[in-house]
Amino acid sequence: MTLDYELNLLRKLVEINTDSVLKEGYDECASILIEEAQKNSLDVSVIDGEKGAQDGIYRPNIIITLNSGSDVTLLLESHFDVVPSGPNWTYPPYKLTLRNGKAFGRGTADNKAGIAAAIGAMRLLNKENLDINLKLIASVDEEIGGRYGVDYILSDYGLRGDAALVLDAGPENLYLGASGLIWGKITVKGKQGHAGYPYKSKNAIVETINLLSALDVYKKRVEKKESFLHAPLEAPKQNIWGRFNVTTIKAGEKENIIPGICEVRFDRRLLPEESIEEAEDELRDFFEEAVKKIGCRASLEIIHKLPGYYTQSDHVFVQTVSENIKKIVGRNLSLAGELGGNDGSFFAKNGIPVLCYGTIRADTRFHGVDEFVYLEDIINVRNLIINLSKVKREQIAE
Ligand SMILES: [Zn+2]
Repeated sequence: MTLDYELNLLRKLVEINTDSVLKEGYDECASILIEEAQKNSLDVSVIDGEKGAQDGIYRPNIIITLNSGSDVTLLLESHFDVVPSGPNWTYPPYKLTLRNGKAFGRGTADNKAGIAAAIGAMRLLNKENLDINLKLIASVDEEIGGRYGVDYILSDYGLRGDAALVLDAGPENLYLGASGLIWGKITVKGKQGHAGYPYKSKNAIVETINLLSALDVYKKRVEKKESFLHAPLEAPKQNIWGRFNVTTIKAGEKENIIPGICEVRFDRRLLPEESIEEAEDELRDFFEEAVKKIGCRASLEIIHKLPGYYTQSDHVFVQTVSENIKKIVGRNLSLAGELGGNDGSFFAKNGIPVLCYGTIRADTRFHGVDEFVYLEDIINVRNLIINLSKVKREQIAE
């Protein structure tokens, strides 16, 4: 089977800048997907996330269905929004460039190749012979959290399936879950003043340094937490571990002013099975204790949180996907959890068993300069979907 169809479609998708912040290309990209579905006699509909957001900005989530008349549906999910390209690309970011078994362009690996592979598979299938339905969700807004993308489709609109394969992942592992996260802001207050008269002020940067070194105890404690799920193969630890990192610090106006306020942002990653409420309590306790110990004035605000999730490894869907990947790549993949997060959490939140596998190989520079996808990975994902479509209904839903 050639890859001509998939690469042609991928070319059309990459040529449209679907930056999730600007959203200018959403409409045009959606039109291409609708046209492709119709050309290939697949059912297609639009779930507009704007109906949830209510801000006048069109958010076309495209649903493409191969309906065999079965009562069991396998959901596939991939997103067509991208992050900005940034400068210094070797190849034009919004053109598809083929070189040495790779296709370069923003959004190739993350995540437009997933859509091309899925439609490429669905167009080759004869629904009369299938025991399950396939439903592809080509979503928007993933790169800004997915609230009016997949979350809206499942939690508000109520779209359902019996299991989901999220194509927004790498092919090195079969992912059973992902880490949760807590993003927060710490504001440390001092007293602003003239740097020539430091005894009249209190330096918020110094207070912050003291507070952060006290929080190092917390960081070390978090890093000792260990999941029962394996980490991805390239990770420095065998199992997923807790993480806490300070990610921004903002303070100061000018050389001769002692800063009166310092703002710190952090990112805490949870084990897939960790309770987000307990993690938040633990964080707050440590913070209060550190503040007391230092004797500084500081407050903590949680900005955003998302629980982790995992699908039980003995679920029939895990065995089905594992076996079919083995048929295609010739070896068993490690069952792992993701260190980052993805839209899989919304399926888990709605009680749908979910696994992640896709074209975002570790070295594909996703979100970076010169992003690319391996053509081999597009072939593998397409063939996996073809194989999965042919399983019996009880191999998807217990
Ligand atoms: Zn992605």
